[in-house]
Amino acid sequence: VKQEKKKKDKSDRATVENVLDPRTLNFLVKLIRKGVLSHINGCLSTGKEANVYHGVNTESEKEYAVKIYKTSILVFKDRERYVDGEYRFRNSRNQSNPRKMIKIWAEKEFRNLKRLHSHGIPVPEPIDLRSHVLVMEFLTRGDGEASPKLRDYEFANEDEIETIYQTMLIYMRRMFQKCRLVHADLSEYNSLMHEGQLYIIDVSQSVEPEHPMSLDFLRMDIKNINDFFGRQRGAAVFSERVIFSFITEHLQDVNDEDEDAMRKYIKQMPRKGDSTAVDEDDEVFRSVHLVRSLNHLEERDFGHMSEGKLGTFKSLVDDADGIIYGELKEETEDDSEEDDFDESDEENTSPR
Ligand code: ADP
Ligand code: MG
Repeated sequence: VKQEKKKKDKSDRATVENVLDPRTLNFLVKLIRKGVLSHINGCLSTGKEANVYHGVNTESEKEYAVKIYKTSILVFKDRERYVDGEYRFRNSRNQSNPRKMIKIWAEKEFRNLKRLHSHGIPVPEPIDLRSHVLVMEFLTRGDGEASPKLRDYEFANEDEIETIYQTMLIYMRRMFQKCRLVHADLSEYNSLMHEGQLYIIDVSQSVEPEHPMSLDFLRMDIKNINDFFGRQRGAAVFSERVIFSFITEHLQDVNDEDEDAMRKYIKQMPRKGDSTAVDEDDEVFRSVHLVRSLNHLEERDFGHMSEGKLGTFKSLVDDADGIIYGELKEETEDDSEEDDFDESDEENTSPR
């Protein structure tokens, strides 16, 4: 216990040092002067990249979540890949300066929240941004406590699990098609259940479909969502490849605005275990490399995907949307364009 206390003291100190430094306090004072906030209460969450605080405006009696990014250098090394290659932020690249980086992350989150909000994806409404201090709507159960993460939400029954699962897939599609964003860190931890509705949060790392890694990120999001609803909550999940197509492709005869039609469409999609063909397809899908467009790729991206081995690109499908869905292979004598999957290449095509 004593040791735990000691540890806590240390992390408290770290919080004060890293987050509520004089600069940060200065931005908070500005928000208070401007009348956005009256004061900051407790801390809702301490994360690797940011801390989230509870803020209030005593005049309007509104509550806010105040996300304050931290300058922890280790994190930024890992996060570079999300900004790299994204044209919206290309010119604002200054990755050696942690202060500038946290400002960029906060800006990204603010813009992405706005974009999602304006397209009807339930997210906390973005309120204000001062450098690396972001103010947004506080999603609360009403008693001052934050609404639960999907992970902590108690589903009423199997039907509700299935409904929320479908809702998640519809949001992922709308995000991709309408908002032009892939979440890139979607999970039961970055979604909340608020007033019986699913909300998406934590979108600073979200990327546009043009980002060279966007489809890899999307596949990872799909896997996380399937793992949660399937393995952890017992739903019969859809094949990952089928979900991927559902999100990225144009759907004939289905109107995105018609939710009932969307749900009807989703319900008839193949589920995992429906047939060995479906499962084998999924197995291949997990092992191939997904590339949006060769134009946007840099050598480093190939290196990243094939773990150092630069392969030649072999397109399997090049659909109408211009998405290339293919696999990376080591150069071989055989340069035929057959869309077969060669097991001997498994080592080079296995996911990260
Ligand atoms: P991190 O980058 O640290 O993961 P998140 O944006 O995911 O930051 O926020 C961390 C946690 O804080 C969330 O899991 C959630 O519990 C809480 N939280 C964040 N934003 C809000 C909000 N707008 N309303 C209520 N709780 C929130
Ligand atoms: Mg999070």
